[in-house]
Amino acid sequence: MKFEDLNLISQLQQALADEGYEAPTPIQQQAIPIIIDGKDLVGCAQTGTGKTAAFAIPIINNLHPIVGAAKKVKYIRTLVVTPTRELALQIATNFDAYAKYTNIRTLTIFGGVNQNPQVDQLKKGVDVLVATPGRLLDLHKQGFINLDHMHHLVLDEADQMLDMGFINDVKKIIKLTPDNRQTLLFSATMPLPIRELADSFLTKPEYVSVTPISSTAEKVKQHMYLVGKEDKRKLLYHLIRNENLNNVLIFTRTKHGADNVVKALKKHGVESGAIHGDKSQSARQRVLDAFKNKEIPALVATDIAARGIDIESLPYVINFDLPNIPETYVHRIGRTGRAGNSGLAISFCGRDELPYLKDIEKLIGQKIKVIDGHPYPYSDEVKPEGAKPDFRNKKKNPNNNKPGGGSVSNNNSGARSGKSKPGNSNSRKSAESKKNKKRWY
Ligand code: AMP
Repeated sequence: MKFEDLNLISQLQQALADEGYEAPTPIQQQAIPIIIDGKDLVGCAQTGTGKTAAFAIPIINNLHPIVGAAKKVKYIRTLVVTPTRELALQIATNFDAYAKYTNIRTLTIFGGVNQNPQVDQLKKGVDVLVATPGRLLDLHKQGFINLDHMHHLVLDEADQMLDMGFINDVKKIIKLTPDNRQTLLFSATMPLPIRELADSFLTKPEYVSVTPISSTAEKVKQHMYLVGKEDKRKLLYHLIRNENLNNVLIFTRTKHGADNVVKALKKHGVESGAIHGDKSQSARQRVLDAFKNKEIPALVATDIAARGIDIESLPYVINFDLPNIPETYVHRIGRTGRAGNSGLAISFCGRDELPYLKDIEKLIGQKIKVIDGHPYPYSDEVKPEGAKPDFRNKKKNPNNNKPGGGSVSNNNSGARSGKSKPGNSNSRKSAESKKNKKRWY
């Protein structure tokens, strides 16, 4: 299928050609005709599938005749609600690019920054408003947002909004919009509260779905390192240096964890930057630009901040912490191996994270290769009174200084259960230490 087959206005066709888009992606092929038809839609698709264009293209197509000439008074005709400012900015950038030959104006509003410039822009009038839930409700309450003329409501990354505790805000927002709106809901996963949201607020929606969440994992090479919690930073540095990893996106579970990783890497002379909710918008943008321009080799992000980062063809993703929600693992590793490129996803799993690993493998339906023989495995050793945690790393492993720092295990069972394999030095040590069951890590 080609874009010409979708009966789009010429202004859109030209803009898409300028973007270098040759053909609609599967989610676009399915969703565009439904949305142009004015039907409600539930789209199960994640970032990287072209889902933003899947709703932006038909919306622009339908808005263009309504918005008309430049001088016409503007009303908010389309509202896109999305969980993070990064996503909001990304969506608005896409709308701007696709609508560049029309008079459609897009504005992004999000919290954490002064509201005045946003209010000034709202007063001038916009056709498409892309917003995070909190700031939207706030400015609506202050009387700066009129949704009475709205045609399209898009709820983007609905599952993430649920995870972030925005579900009640989302419900409040829906109630502020006209009943005869067209509603489009996009979500990478469909947990029950999202299905309930769709049932309550959408009218006879059509359902479209691309690449079920668990299948993304098949394209990406995945390696798992079972590592002592306190040794993760050392292993990270070891891999970046010995494997010569450049352009690495590192995920941590917490903001604090992200900052710590940046500090630890800096100590070893590896420059990186963190993006998370406590960083100002300009700080995030600076770091992101430095990473995109390859001025820094590593970017450290929390899951929430990483949503909406649009970086093509990332070669490496490292899960410094394993996420407790298995779908998040698939989201994370989906950052690499995009658009047919190969990618490597490296994960660190501490002993306390083994249950998460089990859940992830269940979701993706495959065992992840465990890399054995790296310098920082966890073991059943017992810490002698007063010993420093580092004592066990000395001369532990013949592969210690080899580039790559490990070999692939074909038999994961021992490592996963936390038991060392027969015959290696760890198992001997662990046998010796079994008398004293108390673990020191
Ligand atoms: P998204 O899933 O919306 O985050 O889109 C992922 C990336 O795919 C973005 O960089 C888009 O610019 C790009 N994209 C979207 N649609 C197409 C298309 N039909 N052809 C090529 N690239 C596309």
